[in-house]
Amino acid sequence: MTDTKEFGTRHLTSCRICGGNDLVEYLDLGNQPPANSFLAPDKTETEKFFPLKVALCRTCGLSQLLDVVAGEDIFDDYLYLASTSQALCDHYAALVADALQRFGYEDGALMADIGCNDGIMLKRYPEDRFRLLGIDPSSAGEYARQAGFEVIDGFFDEALGKQLAASHGPASIITATNVFAHVDDIRSFTAGIRAWLSSDGVYIAEFPYLGDMLDRCYFDTIYHEHLSYLALTPLTRLFADLGLRAFRVERTEVGASGPALRLFTCLKDSTHQTDDTITEMLADEKSWGVAEPDRYQEFAARVVAVKDALLSQIASLRQEGHRIGAYCAPAKGNTLLNYLGLTADDIEAVSDNNELKIGTLTPGSHIPVISEGDFQNAGVSHALLLAWNYAEYFMENSEYIKAGGKFIIPLPDPVIKP
Ligand SMILES: [Zn+2]
Repeated sequence: MTDTKEFGTRHLTSCRICGGNDLVEYLDLGNQPPANSFLAPDKTETEKFFPLKVALCRTCGLSQLLDVVAGEDIFDDYLYLASTSQALCDHYAALVADALQRFGYEDGALMADIGCNDGIMLKRYPEDRFRLLGIDPSSAGEYARQAGFEVIDGFFDEALGKQLAASHGPASIITATNVFAHVDDIRSFTAGIRAWLSSDGVYIAEFPYLGDMLDRCYFDTIYHEHLSYLALTPLTRLFADLGLRAFRVERTEVGASGPALRLFTCLKDSTHQTDDTITEMLADEKSWGVAEPDRYQEFAARVVAVKDALLSQIASLRQEGHRIGAYCAPAKGNTLLNYLGLTADDIEAVSDNNELKIGTLTPGSHIPVISEGDFQNAGVSHALLLAWNYAEYFMENSEYIKAGGKFIIPLPDPVIKP
C-alpha cells in the first residue's frame, strides 16, 4: 500500500479486500470527530475532526471510508456499554439460542466473542456449559472481566487467532457483532478466524448491510469506526481467498446499528451446506450493480434531500415556538447531528440512560447529554429520535412519549410521531 499519513489519518489508495486502485468517492459527510468521543464540557478546545468520505471499489464492490483514523483517536473516550440496551440483550439472547439449537455443539466447546464489550453476548450463553472467551481492546472489556469472563485485551488478527488456537484450542462459535466493519486489516482478521475455527465451527458476524444503507438511506451508519460498508459480493471474494465459505445469511431488524446482516461462515471444506440465502443475495447484488457507481450516486443525492427536509422541519417547529431535544445518544446520532450542522442552539439537550454519557457533550455538535428523568422535566415538545432503529420500542415504552412528547423520526424519510 502507498497510503499517506496526515493528521492521525491514513488515506486509502487501494481497497482493503482486493487491493484494487479503482476507488470512486461517492459521499462526503464533511469533517467530523469520532462518533463515540463524547466530551467533558471543558474539553471542546482540543477536539479532533477528520474527513468522513466513502468510496466504492469498482473491482470487488466494497464500500469503504477513504480516511482511516488512528486507533488511539477512536478508543480513547470509548463509552459505549452494550448491556445498557435491553433490546440488544434480547437480540443477542435470540442469536445464541438459535446458534446452539442449529449447530448442537457439545458441552465444553469453546465459544468466543470478538469485541465482547461488557460481556453482553457471553452472558447470553447458559451458565457452566461452555468455555467462554471474550476479546476486546477497549476499556469496555474491563466490565466483562468484572462480570467474571476471561477477556483478551487486544485487536483480533491473524497472529492472535493462531495464538488462541494454540492456547485455548479450536473455537466452535466465534461471534463478532458490529465488529467486522470496524476492522482496517480485514484480511488479517479473516485469516485469524480461519486459523481459529474448528472443522465444524461457525463464525457468526453481524454488521449493517450496504443494501439497507442504500435502500433506506441510513447514512448515519457511516462514521469513522465503520471502515467498511459490507455486502456479500466482496466478502465472498475475501472468504474464498482465505479458505473460508459463507453458507447462510439472514436479515435482522435489530442490530447494534439498526438493520443488519447475520452471516454464517465456516471453513471452505466444512460439512455445513451453503443454502439458497447466499445464492439469492449474490444474484440480487449483481442485479442492482453492487460494483457500479450509479446506485451510489442516487443514494448520495437522497442523503442531501433528507438533510434539507430535516433542517426545514426543525426550523419550522422552532418558529412555531416548539422546543426541540434529541432522544438517545448512539454513535450514529452524531453523524446525523454533525452532517446537519445542528448545535445546542437548535437541540437543547439529548437524553440517554448511559451514566457514562450523562454530563458530557455530544462530539462536534456539543449538545449536553442529560438523564431521561431530567429530559422529561426539560419541557421539550419534540425529540429527534437518534436511535430510530428502536422507534417501535420507544413509542410503546418511553416515559417521554407517555407524557405527551413527540418524536421526529429522521430516517428513511423524516416523520413526526405520534
Ligand atoms: Zn476491492
